[in-house]
Amino acid sequence: MNFIRRPFSLFFVILSSLFAPFVTSALESVDFYQVKAKDFGNVLPVPVFETQPSEIYYNVGKVIGYANAVGDAIANQDLNRVTFESTVGALDDLSNEIQLTVNRIYLIKETAVDEAMRDAGTEAIKRFNDWNVGFGYREDIYRAIQAYADTKPELTGEHAKLLEETILDFKRLGFHLPQTTRDELELLQKRVSTLATDFGSNIRNATAVLTFTKEELDGVPESFLSQDGIKTGEDAYSISANVTWHYITVMENAINPATREKVFIARYSLAQAENTPVLQEIVELRCEIASKLGYGSWFDFKTEIKMAKNEKTVRNFVDDLIDGLDPKFKAENAIFQKMKAADVGDPDVTFDLWDWRYYRNKYKKDEFSVDTEALRKYFAYEQCLNGMFAIYERIFGLKIEQVESPYKWEESVTMHVISDAATEEPLGFFYLDMFPREGKYNHFASFGIIQGKQLDDGTYQRPVNALICNFPPPEGDNKPSLLSYNEVTTLFHEFGHCMHSLLTRSEFIRFSGTSVPRDFVEAPSQMLEYWLESKEVLDTFAANYQDPEDKIDGDLIDKIVESNKATVGGHYRRQLTFCSIDLELHGPACRHGDALDVIESSNAVFEKVLFPVPEDTSFVTYFGHLTGYDGGYYGYAWADAIAADMATVFEQAPGGYLDEEVGLRLRREIYETGGSRDMNESIRAFLGRERSLKPFLNNLGIETE
Ligand SMILES: [Zn+2]
Repeated sequence: MNFIRRPFSLFFVILSSLFAPFVTSALESVDFYQVKAKDFGNVLPVPVFETQPSEIYYNVGKVIGYANAVGDAIANQDLNRVTFESTVGALDDLSNEIQLTVNRIYLIKETAVDEAMRDAGTEAIKRFNDWNVGFGYREDIYRAIQAYADTKPELTGEHAKLLEETILDFKRLGFHLPQTTRDELELLQKRVSTLATDFGSNIRNATAVLTFTKEELDGVPESFLSQDGIKTGEDAYSISANVTWHYITVMENAINPATREKVFIARYSLAQAENTPVLQEIVELRCEIASKLGYGSWFDFKTEIKMAKNEKTVRNFVDDLIDGLDPKFKAENAIFQKMKAADVGDPDVTFDLWDWRYYRNKYKKDEFSVDTEALRKYFAYEQCLNGMFAIYERIFGLKIEQVESPYKWEESVTMHVISDAATEEPLGFFYLDMFPREGKYNHFASFGIIQGKQLDDGTYQRPVNALICNFPPPEGDNKPSLLSYNEVTTLFHEFGHCMHSLLTRSEFIRFSGTSVPRDFVEAPSQMLEYWLESKEVLDTFAANYQDPEDKIDGDLIDKIVESNKATVGGHYRRQLTFCSIDLELHGPACRHGDALDVIESSNAVFEKVLFPVPEDTSFVTYFGHLTGYDGGYYGYAWADAIAADMATVFEQAPGGYLDEEVGLRLRREIYETGGSRDMNESIRAFLGRERSLKPFLNNLGIETE
């Protein structure tokens, strides 16, 4: 099966021997689409990449200079004659000018082949971030914005939301408070930020090396034990509890419970001495900041700008899920406990947290022996990519074509255009940079380069994005890159983010594309992962690359899905443990003014939600998400629940996951609107009803009435 679509056939035009033969490119040029975009009142920008470190420094300096001048103009205007355009509108225009330079440099920092370019990008972004913090605190700009708000303008829709949120930004920085309080707040914020840096570096520097004999490590794969740095003596093996893959390999495979317990305790005591006082102070200071700003808790402060809006909503959500999962979690543990009892010959043996990974792994292997490696032959990279394009084209009513890229930062980079299939309106460009190389960003992500925005001249600036991935590279000419099932899922997920950016019709940068509440942003992409559980969807592209007649075995896919579901109770209870710790540290303690012991209270959460942990362990001192995801860890589960709910609309539609009508509704109500209206409203518009937690629970194998 061949999904490769080329916009034009290849012509070789040889004029005469006097002329060099020239080749008409197989790909259309970007100009072709740029001209076409004009018919729709759009501009389709093509980023011009810096190619020298000096250009990077120069351009960042230039944009900072420009931003300072715009800031001055906003601040120095006649406050009796302020307008939307001269205040909040001007700030959004400025965001646009900034992103047009900074996003590109950010991408260079993460992807440039030349190390000097990456270093220049890092340096420039640091300079920009430092400047940005100070700019946010400019009181003269705040006064101009507030002067406009004071005119009580009659705004609606996106305009009203922009003013409201801009004012909220300033309020969250304490601009409504007396100068002395603000000075105190600034000191507190700086102190928290220093402590957060310390917390992170203590985590990075924490080590715990344990030495075991071969016998003690029975069950751990030979390929792991024979590695340099692990085999450190005749019969001595050094396991670093701080190195995640060491930890997981031992916890999943070591047969001896005592070995697992030792490694677990070492892991759960990392950075204890250093980070206990640091975390204690961070939690107390966050509470103080929240109180000074007028919030009930740090959690209330953090969630105010998200879908959940407050601590109480999150607490209810988390507690409901903990309860809902209880029967499933208990049933899974009963199976694991029996397995352990049989292994150690004691029917009453306790099942501990350090047994969980081992028996989950063993259970999956015994019950659902799925050879995931054997699936790779069905997922040749090109086939998956083109198959995925075809699916997105179909459900969203789009056309995706490769174009001739005027610039590539690396040879394998390709550039593509998406257009509306019905009107042929070009909607945006995206780049693909899909294989690993030294110095490149080493995860999978969609990077915005240019965001959509309505410009002052009446045209609409269409977006540009880049998908930066690290799929296994092709092995020579005859063996294409073969993806694992999980990698195909990642591809669908990340491309979902890319579409979210490119399909936008939001008027302002602030609401463009994926600029939606943090606890929603993953939901559309998480939903698209369901597509890979459907044989019907997989059959549109997954076939043996050597024999297109050989389609993927549907039973095998069911088995993968089933094996994931079989242990999902424990998976989510573990996630919910982290959510509850986040709630505990950033919620009630603050409200009651209690002196909360960070370790005692989080260990109590383990006992309540997962398994009891030894008193002298301190999971939280090594829990890096407490800085960065504070007041936000629940977002993963929250978005999962929305994704499951949204997927049901497809599941119930005549065309299933490939239903074009539902797809188009998703495009209009979720992807095009972005953050321009309340997310709850957008979700309701797509679902055609109120949200429900039931589909999520049902997916986890939990019956709901
Ligand atoms: Zn994502």
